[in-house]
Amino acid sequence: MGAGVCLRRRGLSKLAQSSRKSVTVAGGGVAGMSAACALAEAGLRVELVERRGYLGGRASSYLHPGVNEVIDNCQHVLFGCCTNLVGFYRRIGVADRIYWTSEMTMIEPGGRRSQLGPSWLPAPLHGLPKLMAAHAFSLADKLALARAFTALMRPVPANSTESLEAWLRRNGQTQGAIERFWRLVIASALNADIDSIAMPYAAKVIRELFMNSAFAGSMGMSTLPLSDLYAGVTPYIEQRGGSVHLNAHLESATWDEDGAQWTIRTRNWELASDFLVVALPFEATAKLIPQMPRAEGAEVLAAQIERHEHWPICSVHLWFDREITELDHAVLLDREIHWLYNQSRLQRGRGGHYIELVVSATRAFAGLPREEAIRKALTELGEFFPRVRDAKLEKAALVKEVFATFGVPPGIDSSRPSALSPWPNCFLAGDWTATGWPSTMESAARSGHLAAETICRSTGEPQAFLNPDLKPEGLMRWVRVGNRK
Ligand SMILES: Cc1cc2nc3c(=O)[nH]c(=O)nc-3n(C[C@H](O)[C@H](O)[C@H](O)COP(=O)(O)OP(=O)(O)OC[C@H]3O[C@@H](n4cnc5c(N)ncnc54)[C@H](O)[C@@H]3O)c2cc1C
Repeated sequence: MGAGVCLRRRGLSKLAQSSRKSVTVAGGGVAGMSAACALAEAGLRVELVERRGYLGGRASSYLHPGVNEVIDNCQHVLFGCCTNLVGFYRRIGVADRIYWTSEMTMIEPGGRRSQLGPSWLPAPLHGLPKLMAAHAFSLADKLALARAFTALMRPVPANSTESLEAWLRRNGQTQGAIERFWRLVIASALNADIDSIAMPYAAKVIRELFMNSAFAGSMGMSTLPLSDLYAGVTPYIEQRGGSVHLNAHLESATWDEDGAQWTIRTRNWELASDFLVVALPFEATAKLIPQMPRAEGAEVLAAQIERHEHWPICSVHLWFDREITELDHAVLLDREIHWLYNQSRLQRGRGGHYIELVVSATRAFAGLPREEAIRKALTELGEFFPRVRDAKLEKAALVKEVFATFGVPPGIDSSRPSALSPWPNCFLAGDWTATGWPSTMESAARSGHLAAETICRSTGEPQAFLNPDLKPEGLMRWVRVGNRK
């Protein structure tokens, strides 16, 4: 008897004994985990089904065989405004494992540093004194940035089809402001070129990170490898009567109209439940559609997915024989490497001198062979931190995530479906669904909470899981900028 039959029998007999509704959540990324935990809290019996042998999806850690170290697939940062991600961390008891900082150090080749961060001034002026003192920007750059921030006090229509690049041109941004602020800080947060970013998304990021309040823009980093952060997910679900199934690739799903039940199939077993949440990336959702029952609207969904595009992120992981910087993290200007994370300092207790460099939205870097990419990163790092030249590189790893994030070009919102799917009792989640957020862990957590709310509503027992946005502070309280759904 296959494991699937056992699972099916166990599932059905439990259901028969109880009136408790059951739900299968396919996909153990942040979207699936946050939906699963919220639904377990709501009293549903949850079966979380994940293709890989660990949870976390695109935000996870694993033992890298080449260096024999547990590494994150890439440093993941969150911000104070990521209320749903923080809500998910709170639910599984790890919110205190995030290290928060409001300071951002920008470094020019040669080592000159500028500090961005809040002051005593009320929002949105809190960042102004440090911006005005920053060596990284000329006076013309600073005036251009001040002009842009002032312009962003006015609403940007949610349906604007203007790109960030066109908006920057229209708002007289200098080359320095574009390269060192808009391209490096904003486009890299959205992981795309400035001509491929819809203005409403750029405006949202600027307001949250630099205008609404000092806390909204503070940056959070896990002090644990990412998958360790989710160690509480399985016990959370199990204590509430559910299960987590790893190494379980959902291959197809059928809907029994009479019994009002979904049955999902993996290679070895099948599982029945009242509800199904498809919390997969868009490309995996597209592959699943032909393996789902025929439904009106399925073709529209497939066409929406076709309009999505991936952007890559690469990370270079370096272990030195000595400390090369006392900084926890930094923004590196004018070179291909963009962000530095001092993992030995951020993930205390891991020892060694481990530095991670992140290169966002650069298809050229993603195309380099391993040795060349590492050599390039190392050479550039030496331009910012002279100690690199004397240090011995003990080992190195390159992680290329070619399908890291989806882009948010103008018009993308019409291709982001809501939690409602074309199938009965089946709901969609995933960072790419309609959350109003770009491809981030916050978007994933939001989508999970939205799917959980939609299911609870459909059972006639509505529950609120969506964590409210942070309220703007200071002068921002009187500015009408809430222009996105
Ligand atoms: C390199 C990199 C850097 C990033 N940096 C940041 C950052 O700094 N800050 C930030 O907020 N975001 C960042 N992101 C984006 C963030 O990781 C994603 O937006 C988020 O993790 C998406 O979560 P998700 O649950 O929607 O999708 P995923 O994480 O892709 O989860 C989907 C899950 O479904 C599983 N799956 C797929 N097919 C099947 C199947 N058929 N059956 C069962 N399971 C299946 C997958 O294995 C995966 O675990 C980064 C992403 C990458 C790759």
